[in-house]
Amino acid sequence: MTAKLLDGKAFAATVREKVASHVSKLKSEHGITPGLAVVLVGEDPASQVYVRSKGKMTVEVGMNSYEHKLDANTSEADLLALIEKLNKDESINGILVQLPLPDHLNEDLVINSIDPVKDVDGFHISNVGLLGTGQKSMVPCTPLGCLMMLREHHGSLSGLDAVVIGRSNIVGKPMANLLLGDSCTVTIAHSRTKDLPDVVRRADIVVAAVGRPEMVPGDWIKKGATVIDVGINRIPAPEKGEGKTRLVGDVDFATAKENAGAITPVPGGVGPMTIACLLANTLTATCRANGLEEPE
Ligand code: NDP
Repeated sequence: MTAKLLDGKAFAATVREKVASHVSKLKSEHGITPGLAVVLVGEDPASQVYVRSKGKMTVEVGMNSYEHKLDANTSEADLLALIEKLNKDESINGILVQLPLPDHLNEDLVINSIDPVKDVDGFHISNVGLLGTGQKSMVPCTPLGCLMMLREHHGSLSGLDAVVIGRSNIVGKPMANLLLGDSCTVTIAHSRTKDLPDVVRRADIVVAAVGRPEMVPGDWIKKGATVIDVGINRIPAPEKGEGKTRLVGDVDFATAKENAGAITPVPGGVGPMTIACLLANTLTATCRANGLEEPE
């Protein structure tokens, strides 16, 4: 059996189209243009690439994009002052501080200084608490993208056994909360989990968010299970030429697709959904700020 490919790139394009049509209605009916501010401190090359593509897609869906590029030595006080200014600015509906921050800046302090209503990454402690108690919140983009793909494929997730490998605050824990919210029976696995293969073999849904290239082999996957591979790992690809690299996930795609019922590829799976969900969250934040009905 070969699994159905869950095409995140195509799905993300449809999510962005829906956001764009909603934005156009906001403009024509209410004179509102959503604004997303992205703050980048320092010159981490991967972060620069992410910020550039976020900015480009923000503009493509008709929103205003504001980029604040700060020097790597920026003081905490200056960064907090900028966030305070953005919190008060009515033309800004979403604020995203690109992580990781340089070591001298306290990430928790910085994230928790963002107005929770504008916290489109969903990392503010209030949003974490709201999600954890099943209340309306801003949901972190990557797990939200995974949930949307799972709902699209399964319809209802109720009663399914889900295993999330990884317990980070950014992916693993919010993912587990979202699956619980959709009535899955959820297991969170991590580096201290005993007999990981056995745990994974029980799952109808496997979400791998570890950061270890191809660590989940196909024979851990139950026949017909759905596999969501969050991992993005760059490995050497000598077959493409000297010094060349390629991206792989945390799951061994070639063997996993033989057992899985459905699987996301890397690249082209979860990655594109993350930015689409950032735009969807910015739209949601704009509607909430203006007392308008939220998009589904
Ligand atoms: P973290 O490093 O914060 O967390 C990794 C988790 O994996 C930890 O909980 C760790 O356990 C667990 N882990 C490590 N080794 C093992 C092991 N051998 N067996 C079981 N569990 C293990 O990573 P993130 O959550 O931030 O990211 C995970 C992956 O997802 C990365 O590849 C990252 O690049 C990717 N990513 C992709 C995004 C996208 O848009 N597609 C967005 C965000 C992340 P412990 O807690 O015990 O140490």
